[in-house]
Amino acid sequence: MTTAVHRAVHPVLLVGAGPGDPELLTLKAARAIAAADVILVDDLVDRRVLQHAPAGARIVEVGKRGGCRSTSQAFIEKLLVHEAKSGRRVVRLKGGDPFVFGRGGEEADALRAAGLTVEVIPGITAGIAAATEIGVPVTDRRHAPGVAFVTGHVREGGREPDWNALARSGLTIVVYMGIAQCAAITARLQAAGLPAATPAAVIQHACTPAARSHVTTLAALAGDVARLGLGSPAILVIGDAVRAAAALHDVRAADDAAHGDVRTGLRGALAAVR
Ligand code: SAH
Repeated sequence: MTTAVHRAVHPVLLVGAGPGDPELLTLKAARAIAAADVILVDDLVDRRVLQHAPAGARIVEVGKRGGCRSTSQAFIEKLLVHEAKSGRRVVRLKGGDPFVFGRGGEEADALRAAGLTVEVIPGITAGIAAATEIGVPVTDRRHAPGVAFVTGHVREGGREPDWNALARSGLTIVVYMGIAQCAAITARLQAAGLPAATPAAVIQHACTPAARSHVTTLAALAGDVARLGLGSPAILVIGDAVRAAAALHDVRAADDAAHGDVRTGLRGALAAVR
């Protein structure tokens, strides 16, 4: 008779790091980070959240910041399995919410297929945080009966959002990874009948000190993004709910002027759509 040596295998934690500001981390996420032996960090995760990590924790950067190649998904999954099976407490830290365009579902499936238990700790997703940062409620019974979170970048094997249906839906449209395809997306929405004057916003680096935002119209969005040099990571918000951004404008106008912020065009653009 043989006796197996059982090492305690902890569940792998897929943890949402929120959109940036470490104050937007959940208490549960902060506790998970504080108890971790190994933390695999995506490039969009704000490094300030790692202040909770124990001094001895191994931090593995698996993103592509700084021009380096990103680590392959297969390698990330292998490393997660190896570390967890070695008895270490593993945290997989993802920007925003792990299950919103974060490949969290794929990773959870791979870990479960390897016989591991997975726990997911939700985070505040960038789409909500970015809209909130400019004063836009993603749903508002006066303007939008709901919200659609869609990707502007369809990976191989993925399905493209139905832009025609979205244009007719009356929903606030929140686009992740939409900068590269901004011109195509806004053209398709207009071709499908969404009025050119629909309010639209772009928020880059939301909830970080580098945040830049701009409110305009659907027709002008792509041109403005290019003119202002706004790039990834950014969220696009399209729909009548964006009108609410005007309320914040008066509060922030003086601040913008002082800091050369790109939060410009708000009053003019919205005056045009009113
Ligand atoms: N899981 C993440 C999304 C990952 S997809 C979440 O729930 O937020 C990556 C995209 O998210 C980026 O291309 C960008 O569209 C958006 N994003 C993430 N962090 C952002 C931030 N701080 N500001 C603006 N957009 C952000």
